[in-house]
Amino acid sequence: MVVIRWRLPGRGVGRAIKNWIIWKWEQAILTARSLTYNEHMSQSYAIDFMMEPIFWFVDNFAKYLGKVFVFCVTILTSLVVVIAYWVGLPYWWQRCPYTSVFLVIFGNWLLLNITFHYYMGVITPPGYPPNDLSVVRRHGRPRRKKDLVLLKAASICKKCIAPKPPRTHHCSVCDRCILGMDHHCPWLNNCVGYRNARYFYLYMLYMLAGVTFIIVAGIDIGYQVLWLNDTGGIIPYNDPDLIGHPVRMNQSGILVPVKVIVEYDSINFPREHNLPMPPVTEAQRIAAHPWKRKGVVFMAVTCVSVVLALGGLVILHAKNISRGETSVEAAINAKLRKTKKKFRNPYDFGRRKNWKLFLGLTQGRTFLRHVLLPSSHGPAGTGIKWHTVDNTLEDWP
Ligand SMILES: [Zn+2]
Ligand SMILES: [Zn+2]
Repeated sequence: MVVIRWRLPGRGVGRAIKNWIIWKWEQAILTARSLTYNEHMSQSYAIDFMMEPIFWFVDNFAKYLGKVFVFCVTILTSLVVVIAYWVGLPYWWQRCPYTSVFLVIFGNWLLLNITFHYYMGVITPPGYPPNDLSVVRRHGRPRRKKDLVLLKAASICKKCIAPKPPRTHHCSVCDRCILGMDHHCPWLNNCVGYRNARYFYLYMLYMLAGVTFIIVAGIDIGYQVLWLNDTGGIIPYNDPDLIGHPVRMNQSGILVPVKVIVEYDSINFPREHNLPMPPVTEAQRIAAHPWKRKGVVFMAVTCVSVVLALGGLVILHAKNISRGETSVEAAINAKLRKTKKKFRNPYDFGRRKNWKLFLGLTQGRTFLRHVLLPSSHGPAGTGIKWHTVDNTLEDWP
């Protein structure tokens, strides 16, 4: 007898499908790799590639973002000042009126410098190379000294197709050349360059001092309000009057109704007893005030963030100023120092003179009047022609 057995192709089909999927997957990877092959592929290339949308975004929208940033800086600074007066001043006044007066004067001196340097940083143009070279072309020879200098310019800007004085760089956001360019600052909605670098740096410095001042003056308020007196919005000793029949407690702990009439002012209200109660502190009042308490939290978060962000930037720029470099030059010179052994920054006159030049403390200007107080004096030189250490004959400034 013949027995016919049917066998279902169970395992074989599964394996075939699996092999087919693997084969197609490998094909897809090979296709993708061959289509996107790049001999220069490296980690930095990959990072550059992934950053490209961000650069595009910054280049195209920085102008609009800048306005939003300036608005945010103004609002945040105003809010911090308002809260300092609303929450901080009553607290300090209760502690010591003399200290309060000192804090108000010192704080307003910082505020004046912050406002002045920020405003000047925003409205002062960084300085642009003169573009009236047509004068030179028409007359065949430069008519003014400024034009003569430009003819000897260090290089030509490929984007502006115009002479580029030394230390000038092209800003892709402003889309023009900037004298002594440092960087484009979205917080100022302006380029930081030859004419406004001092405002930019002093703004950062005074802002850092300002938030440090707020933290130092407010750390005790923060500790008292958020740590010691976190009452959940209740002012202590402020319980509502008890309503009901008054009782007394005798020595055995038994409640005894009060019956004697002199204990009452009227039927329902027991006579007021002036029991000694500790005074409510300002910190307790702040802790119990829902908006003041939020204000303290806001101040803590804002000020600590600003100190962390600005602290590093202030140190970094101080380093550059000490070396007589702009941020752009710091990056270029760092490379040059690696490749050229005998590289020397031609604009480095030594730390002391570099700072004096940066702060514009020339022609008898003083630190007291021109740094500690708002001053709109311009920087030394022209921003087009720069003195170098190699030029020892020239007395500058
Ligand atoms: Zn340019
Ligand atoms: Zn710019």
